[in-house]
Amino acid sequence: MSQLDAALDAKIRTYIGRRVGPFNAWNAVSRPLVWQWCSAMGDNNPLYLDDAGVTAPPTSLQMWTMRDVNGDYGPGSTDVHPFEVLDVLEAEGYSGVVAADYDQTYHRYVTEGEQLLHFTTIVEISELKSTGLGDGYFVTELAEFFVGDDCVGEARVTYFKYRPPEDPTGPGAKQDTGGDANSMAVLRTHPVENHDSKHYWQGLRDGKLLIQKCSSCETMRHPPLPMCSECQSLEWGTVESKGVGTLHSYTVMHYPHIPPFDYPNMICLVDLDDGVRIVSQMVEVKPDQLEIGMRVEAVLTEVQDGLVLPLFKPASSNPTSASEA
Ligand code: ZN
Repeated sequence: MSQLDAALDAKIRTYIGRRVGPFNAWNAVSRPLVWQWCSAMGDNNPLYLDDAGVTAPPTSLQMWTMRDVNGDYGPGSTDVHPFEVLDVLEAEGYSGVVAADYDQTYHRYVTEGEQLLHFTTIVEISELKSTGLGDGYFVTELAEFFVGDDCVGEARVTYFKYRPPEDPTGPGAKQDTGGDANSMAVLRTHPVENHDSKHYWQGLRDGKLLIQKCSSCETMRHPPLPMCSECQSLEWGTVESKGVGTLHSYTVMHYPHIPPFDYPNMICLVDLDDGVRIVSQMVEVKPDQLEIGMRVEAVLTEVQDGLVLPLFKPASSNPTSASEA
């Protein structure tokens, strides 16, 4: 470890045990908010919205004291930055972050009208670790949730704050897999190719997007599966898709930058005209040009040696409406 690294190592350890708070909830537990949570989660447990009263689902613990859209905590909260140690690491090049572990412990139910607050403490920082993502530190935070002086639950969250390898290729470029033993290139995980799925991956390598079709009831299905979910038949064939469809939905991931993906990463759901939905990535388009319902077409792209993926771009000749005329 260099002197600089040793200094950083010593500095981040001064944060261990520093307890920061309170971070106050914007709103008390209420029927509309619990209803909204249950509705979003599909949780129909009758306990939570009983006629006699409202109980917050335990797994909503962290939600109550979250920051608002402007990044502010509820009135009366401390101004002290709860995650300064992560910023310190960030400033030294450990810019990547992933959540590695999350444990919640519930001490009692929280009910209608109760107002939560939390305190947070960095309880553990690992030695410098080398991982597939890069070198970094596992930082564990303990959040304690209170109603008044009553601790109602706790959450332990471990983040991995890491130094991403230097961008080996730049956006949009293919990975260099030229066998350089010192290459820092992080590759995509190669999909499993087995009896049920090899046709799909081999088809892509052959320049064909093959979609499974049940031989008994003719239902199309994707991703590849051994059995038809409609009629349970194990007999199937494939149809070569034209790769044309409609953008059903999308999300644009900006941060954190996890190799080997390009950023902003436009993750899309495409409804192929063949009647199946496929998860992929939009290319040759800017995020603000994406529009749900736009016509798209597949571009079979060798993203790294031996791995061809059907990425999608705006259709060249189609209007944005899903006109079949
Ligand atoms: Zn079938």
